[in-house]
Amino acid sequence: MFCYQCEQAARGTGCTQFGVCGKAPDVAALQDLLVHAAKGVAQYAHRAGRLGVRDREVDVFVLEALFTTVTNVNFDADRMENMLRRAGGVKDRARALYAGAVRKSGNIEEKLAGPACWTPAADRAGLIAEGAEVGVDSRRETSGPDIAGLQELLTCGLKGAAAYADHAMLLGRESEEVYAFFHEALDFLAGENPKAEELLAMNLRCGEINLKVMELLDAANTGAYGHPVPTQVRVEPRRGKAILVSGHDLKDLEELLRQTEGRDVNVYTHGEMLPAHGYPGLKKHAHLAGNYGGAWQDQQKEFEAFPGAILMTTNCIQQPRPSYRERIFTSGLVAWPGVAHIADREFAPVIRAAQQAAGFAEDGPDRKILVGFGHNAVLGVADKVIEAVRRGAIRRFFLIGGCDGAKSGRNYYTRFAEAVPKDCVILTLACGKYRFNKLDFGDIGGIPRLLDCGQCNDAYSAIRIALALAEAFDTDVNSLPLSLILSWYEQKAVCILLTLLHLGIRNIRLGPSLPAFVTPPVLKVLVDKFNIAPVTTVEQDMAAIF
Ligand code: SF4
Ligand code: SF4
Repeated sequence: MFCYQCEQAARGTGCTQFGVCGKAPDVAALQDLLVHAAKGVAQYAHRAGRLGVRDREVDVFVLEALFTTVTNVNFDADRMENMLRRAGGVKDRARALYAGAVRKSGNIEEKLAGPACWTPAADRAGLIAEGAEVGVDSRRETSGPDIAGLQELLTCGLKGAAAYADHAMLLGRESEEVYAFFHEALDFLAGENPKAEELLAMNLRCGEINLKVMELLDAANTGAYGHPVPTQVRVEPRRGKAILVSGHDLKDLEELLRQTEGRDVNVYTHGEMLPAHGYPGLKKHAHLAGNYGGAWQDQQKEFEAFPGAILMTTNCIQQPRPSYRERIFTSGLVAWPGVAHIADREFAPVIRAAQQAAGFAEDGPDRKILVGFGHNAVLGVADKVIEAVRRGAIRRFFLIGGCDGAKSGRNYYTRFAEAVPKDCVILTLACGKYRFNKLDFGDIGGIPRLLDCGQCNDAYSAIRIALALAEAFDTDVNSLPLSLILSWYEQKAVCILLTLLHLGIRNIRLGPSLPAFVTPPVLKVLVDKFNIAPVTTVEQDMAAIF
């Protein structure tokens, strides 16, 4: 196997024997093959789309295929094989769609090569062998590390955007333009001999489309549950039976809250589910009791200690320990071999497991943190913020956020947040916030110094806030007193980075290490064009900013 799609890539270069994340070589090969299959589907769907014909089943399959291969989503070879069998059928459907569209238009049908010609092998071993032929390694051999790295940058961006588009789709928001771009970009990746400039341009277009996807998901979340409002969230348990919900899928949480209403079971958020407490449509449930634990990489010890059932929606799942294997469940596209999967949001088995578990014996202390600073809440007090900047009470804004991870160097983000001067405001989002969100930062004239914008997708909120500030000060985002200190781990962070680059945002500091697929020549282009820089030390970076 060879995989270098996330920040955990072994030795900073790539996992070759077994994934640091727990991905086995057979699953890695099946995932590579699924991306290849999605390209084959897209080759036909893109051409059919240009002739005005599309098919929702094909569109949605491409999203799910990409999202399934995101880091820490699906570790189950059975589920991967099922998707690959489905991929064969969906490709036939897309081919028929294209053939029908060509006939109708009177054009001549193009004879397609590459992934479009793939057919699924008859058995698992055959699929794994097919996957081994189409992984990143083969592209690195044929195209060289720079081109393969730029292709991987785009593939990662598409995977991240697909995850967001899938969440929006589940809440009823879809966009033909977005689907068309997925097909176009995958068709482009299926082509031969791409030039570096073309790849760079397609990467920036991926960032542009991801902005639309994040907007779509923002509209989906706020349309379903209202705009987040500043909310105090308990971070200590309450006495009683308990279910812990992790991941990013608000729809799963909503359904679980409905099904546990009046059942004497408290529901807690974990990891990226924390922002749910700010949504009026979710916080109205009195048994949404609080937040428990920290970011995804601490889940094994936290889930072990949690005396109830656990529901893992979307990433990031780690190998469950035997101590909680019987009381953890997956939903949506998440899968771990042998772990019970809840399809169609019927959570009775989760509730039963919670009732059978011990639950919390007593209330914890009354400790709370503040969440709910999406764009609507922050822009609602924009006058106050702008006035504070004008009279010098707020000197600078820092966006410190992104994914969290297991590397020891990530305490940089805690130390950086602590070092931010008292007359500066910190915006944060995604699970990177757990590095400092329980610290007391105080306020500036009633404006909290730490504003939690939400999940990683709520980078959209941070962008809206930055654009509004730029407009108020009659300047551009790069001229604002704003510094971006971002942490990345997996592919959603990549698509957000591409969005920021598409917006022309410069001077981003990225850490804790740079993606292994960004080769020195590609990094040079990013530095020249966007002045992107790896994080160094808190002292050095802070000195460079002021
Ligand atoms: S997803 Fe990350 S940790 Fe997992 S195999 Fe790939 S590079 Fe390694
Ligand atoms: S922000 Fe990134 S690392 Fe954190 S849980 Fe979400 S996907 Fe995983």
